[in-house]
Parts: sequence; structure tokens; C-alpha cells
Amino acid sequence: MFIWDFNAIFAVALILSLAIVLGVWMFYTLRGEQDRGTRDAGYFRQCRYCGHVYLDYWMRDPCLCPRCLSYHDP
Ligand SMILES: [Zn+2]
Repeated sequence: MFIWDFNAIFAVALILSLAIVLGVWMFYTLRGEQDRGTRDAGYFRQCRYCGHVYLDYWMRDPCLCPRCLSYHDP
């Protein structure tokens, strides 16, 4: 027969809380990857001078490279 002492209650509570955290993390990670892949596809820019690839959500013309801070056309 299983005895519910403090260690057993602590272990069950720890396992349940870790399962909840892991489940929430997996849910948001998998959902975020699907949304991010389709949403960010049109925002990729590549700097002509240093070759840095970055996301430009503002769609400015000319673009400002975050690495070398030079302006270039999209
Ligand atoms: Zn650059």
C-alpha cells in the first residue's frame, strides 16, 4: 500500500508542476514556430555591405542594417 508522506506529496506536486510547465512550453513553442514561419517570411532583408540577414518589420526604404548601420535598398 502506498503511504502518503511528505516526500511522496512533494514528488507528486513536483512532477505535476513540471508536466504543466513542459506542456505549456511545448504548446507555445510549436504554435509559435508555425505562426512565425508564415508571418515573418516577407520581412527578411539582407545587407548589401556586410551580408547580415535580419528582420525588418517596419519595411522602411532605405533599410538600416542593425549590424553595420548602413542604409541600403531592400
Ligand atoms: Zn550591414
